[in-house]
Amino acid sequence: MMMLRIKRAIAFGILLFSMTFCGAAMVFARPEPFFAFSRTVQAITIYDTQPIPQSADRILSEIAEILAAGPFEYEQLELFVARDGWRHDLFFWLGPKAGGIVYYPLTYNHGFLSGADYRSGLLRKGERLINPPRTLVYYGVHELTHVLTGQHIGAFRFHAMPDWVREGLADYVALGQPQDYVGLDAQLGNQPISVDVMDSHGAYPRYRMLVAWFLTQEGWSLDALLATDMSESEALAIMREGLAI
Ligand SMILES: [Zn+2]
Repeated sequence: MMMLRIKRAIAFGILLFSMTFCGAAMVFARPEPFFAFSRTVQAITIYDTQPIPQSADRILSEIAEILAAGPFEYEQLELFVARDGWRHDLFFWLGPKAGGIVYYPLTYNHGFLSGADYRSGLLRKGERLINPPRTLVYYGVHELTHVLTGQHIGAFRFHAMPDWVREGLADYVALGQPQDYVGLDAQLGNQPISVDVMDSHGAYPRYRMLVAWFLTQEGWSLDALLATDMSESEALAIMREGLAI
């Protein structure tokens, strides 16, 4: 009898654990019920816990236009502004200091933003507004490009690909190619990227420069880029060789 009760207690524990786990996964996959307000322009919907002013429309249409000019086909996409409280704690669980985050494939067609000031078009992180070029449009395009990359190549490859490809492509779609490769490479050198540099060139300037280089100067296709396992240092060496010619 004792054994039976222990077995039953263990089974109940497992059931409770898996229900909690599935419940949490559902909240990440379908966060709509937790955001009272939404606004849609073209195929982009933004959700917020506060009323969304009309000034958000130009931000959404700019995100839609930049994505449409990018390398991926897309259908309905969503952004959730998890600006504070438990929503921020939960949805930014893996990146409490990030401005945007996705959990692909749970977030199959959406990403989360840490805050939004629609009138200025800037992203809010806690009390701080982030400087251009890292605007709301930039963060929206960056996170949704992650989602589209995942849809294109699948969850395993999305996580397995080199960081410079995944993050570089998201910043490349958002900000385009650098105007001056030689100047930017000289400015960045081999140093870690500082906040000052991010404030003028986006979050991943070196990765963006590399992705832009291979797509526009080396003539790689999107699929060739997404399939490469080349390391960042190998990619940098190839680009620098190309720049020196
Ligand atoms: Zn990213």
